[in-house]
Amino acid sequence: MTVILDSTSVGERAHDTAPRQGFSTRQVHAGVRAAAATPRTTPIYLTAGFSFDEYDAAEAHFRDGAGYAYTRIANPTIDTVESRIAELEGGAEALLVASGQAALAVALLSLVSAGGHVVASTHIYEGTRGLLADNLGRFGVSSDFVTDIGDPDAWRAAIRPQTRALVAESLSNARNDVLDIAAIAEVAHEHGIPLVVDNTMATPYLLRPLEHGADIVIHSASKFLAGQGAVIGGVIVDDGRFDIDRSGSLFPHLVERHRLGGPSVAERAAGRARIAYARETVAPRFGSTLSPFNAFLIGQGIETLSLRVGRQSDSALLIARWLEGRDEVESVDYAGLASHPRPDLAERYLPDGHGAVFTFTLRGGAAAARAFVEALQLLTHMTHIGDVRSLVLHPASTSHVNRTPAERLEVGVRPGTLRLSVGIEDAADLREDLARGLAAAREAGA
Ligand SMILES: *Cc1c(COP(=O)(O)O)cnc(C)c1O
Repeated sequence: MTVILDSTSVGERAHDTAPRQGFSTRQVHAGVRAAAATPRTTPIYLTAGFSFDEYDAAEAHFRDGAGYAYTRIANPTIDTVESRIAELEGGAEALLVASGQAALAVALLSLVSAGGHVVASTHIYEGTRGLLADNLGRFGVSSDFVTDIGDPDAWRAAIRPQTRALVAESLSNARNDVLDIAAIAEVAHEHGIPLVVDNTMATPYLLRPLEHGADIVIHSASKFLAGQGAVIGGVIVDDGRFDIDRSGSLFPHLVERHRLGGPSVAERAAGRARIAYARETVAPRFGSTLSPFNAFLIGQGIETLSLRVGRQSDSALLIARWLEGRDEVESVDYAGLASHPRPDLAERYLPDGHGAVFTFTLRGGAAAARAFVEALQLLTHMTHIGDVRSLVLHPASTSHVNRTPAERLEVGVRPGTLRLSVGIEDAADLREDLARGLAAAREAGA
């Protein structure tokens, strides 16, 4: 039901002499009517809850989730954007939550219990690493990290009887590693557990991990999906192929009778048991609700995803090639370059472009990196990626500052390493600004 304020009826009533409701009553009820309009964009249902149209609708909702009642449980704006993302990722169902971090937290809390274990890539977002090693660790869920993520045997060796998920990024920061999704999914499936892929950097336009065997996809929607750097949001997409016979015993919370009574989630949701459990039992209880307003902005952003990411990838490739030819630059880590250590994986998984985020390393170390950043006029110095604006960050002194130098080296972060997130500006203007940075780096002793 779309609710609009009808100012004419308020105006007319002001001249009415009929007995009226009190001011306080009218200030919340006056002029409200259900409009039968059909807006072309998804309306923002910015409402905490929904009225039940008939008495029995309330019971139906509480019995089997029919209809809408409360935005923490479901909201039409959020539903629309969830359906769009599920469709674009080739999944069965998506669940939007308040941030990418919330997406990872909700996805993992839907899979693991105390005493459980997760195997994750070392080449992973620092917040994900912290969630696993610090927060989940405190609740009795341990994690091991795989450094050589291209080697399926390294994953296999880290799996224990208690392991309930493998976690990796399709395209990682800072080394731009491309995950061999099919090979690592096979390892996960040998053990009846899901491969969870953070697809934030690649986006579904360039890569759809579920098509290659991954089971669950995560996004920070704050990045490319929203695209304009205006919101924080996250999403979980599930392939809907939870195998009750094969994996039910590993995930008893999905197949046992509901603790508070009623049938198990697997009985009701079958292959969608994982995402149903996340939607019904984890997200609303931990309260990671996305604002319908933010869902609307993410939905608007997605409408231009292919245009932005296509252009940003093209510009990133031009810039990466140009940087690779410059004396001040020691190396460029970009999946689109011939110098990438696994061009075979880049070709197989990213045939339409290699994304807009990559790192390069200045010969002059930290001093050169500082001079470079301080000289820039067009690029923005900030900790974000996937914006229409180009952004730059020095990982060693920011995102990776709490790692030891040896750990930083392992993930491709050196003192002179800078991360670029290439925006939609004209590539020539970006190159001019980067040349300004390189000139300053050279002066600083690069
Ligand atoms: C930003 C990011 C996250 C965290 O998402 P938020 O929306 O900031 O909570 C997770 N994974 C990757 C790859 C990211 O870039």
